[in-house]
Amino acid sequence: MSEQRLTVPPTGRILDMECRCCGGRSVELVIDLTDQPHCNRLVRPDAPAQAEPRFPLRVGFCRVCTMVQIDHTIPKESMFSDYPYVSGTTKTLPAHFSDTSHRIAAAYGLGPQDLVVDIGSNDGTWLKQYAPFGCRVLGVEAAGNVADLAKAAGVPTWQRFFNEACATDILSEHGAAKIVTAAGVFFHLEELHSVVAGIEKLLTEDGVFVVQAIYLGGMVENTAFDQVYHEHLCYYTLRSLSELLGRHGLEVFEATLVPIHGGTIEAHVARKGRRPVGASVRTMQADETRKGFGEIETYRNLAKSVLLLQQKLVGLLEQYRAAGKTVWAYGAPAKGATLLNSFGIGPELVQKAVERNPMKVGLAIPGVRIPIAEERADESPSAYLVLAWNFIDEFLKNPANIAYMAQGGEFIVPVPKVEVVGAAGPRAV
Ligand SMILES: [Zn+2]
Repeated sequence: MSEQRLTVPPTGRILDMECRCCGGRSVELVIDLTDQPHCNRLVRPDAPAQAEPRFPLRVGFCRVCTMVQIDHTIPKESMFSDYPYVSGTTKTLPAHFSDTSHRIAAAYGLGPQDLVVDIGSNDGTWLKQYAPFGCRVLGVEAAGNVADLAKAAGVPTWQRFFNEACATDILSEHGAAKIVTAAGVFFHLEELHSVVAGIEKLLTEDGVFVVQAIYLGGMVENTAFDQVYHEHLCYYTLRSLSELLGRHGLEVFEATLVPIHGGTIEAHVARKGRRPVGASVRTMQADETRKGFGEIETYRNLAKSVLLLQQKLVGLLEQYRAAGKTVWAYGAPAKGATLLNSFGIGPELVQKAVERNPMKVGLAIPGVRIPIAEERADESPSAYLVLAWNFIDEFLKNPANIAYMAQGGEFIVPVPKVEVVGAAGPRAV
């Protein structure tokens, strides 16, 4: 496994695809993470070898509209009909959603007649935060298991994919929406143009669409290549997001970065010309230009940084193994599957992953087949590899983890740079 070596693709290799945003055929390969299984399709540890199909995981840059995207699409029905990610399982997300809903209510005013629609509403964590404002809410969630959790919690939820037809049905049943939100789903969308057209259709005349998506600029600055997986079809900058929305008569009028998932862009969007474009948009545009986020070279350099990360992390894990130290993964998030499969890190280096999410326990991370066990208070390894590195601050405040470090335990943080955190603080590798 650990002989696997990533390579930086040669320049000028055009992928056989139409750009998901502009339809052009000038999408050039910039990062090749090799063939990988679908990261959320967890397998039984004893499943036959090769039980999980593998698909290319390649990132391209559109030379026409600058959209960064993967070329291979696993059909959405196969990825999202039964989804193991539940928003409510960490503390950080509900707090974040509460903050966002209060800002939205303060900015645009919400009353009992108003409708808020959340696309990809998961277990209803975000919509629950609107209770104090007395407005009507509706979630749209394709995955039956989490949609059921939302309904059980009293959040009105339609179990289906959001697209133009769904928007038409919502309009006839509930009327137009003052606010449409989409958090952490906008890069998933196979029917991208149908979804954006549906949002435009669903909004009231002065309605606002609030979108949060992992920010490509943050991925570049954090070397967060592990955000690349088959579910994430597009990776947005303000510029590429604006290109997409502009094709459907929509315009970003406020844009900010929020510190979640290692850097997320939050854009407030209205019909073109409907609201004045704020200074935040011009500031971010200038920042993106200065940092080269619209230049292909930036993404070639990211590929080189990923190779360095692989050398450091695999080298460190081999040292731990040689010293007889045990390493377990702390959590088994989707991004962990990308990191482990890209770097060829299997059970010989990381014996198991421990998880709080009962839907994952007893299964294994696909591809590398690291088994997932329940987190238990009475056993711990020499070090944990923190795959959900974006939640590291929350983990380090946990009293059980403070006690673990006091007894000599360590956390290996793989991204943005390889670091080992122990009782004495972080040390770079
Ligand atoms: Zn394009």
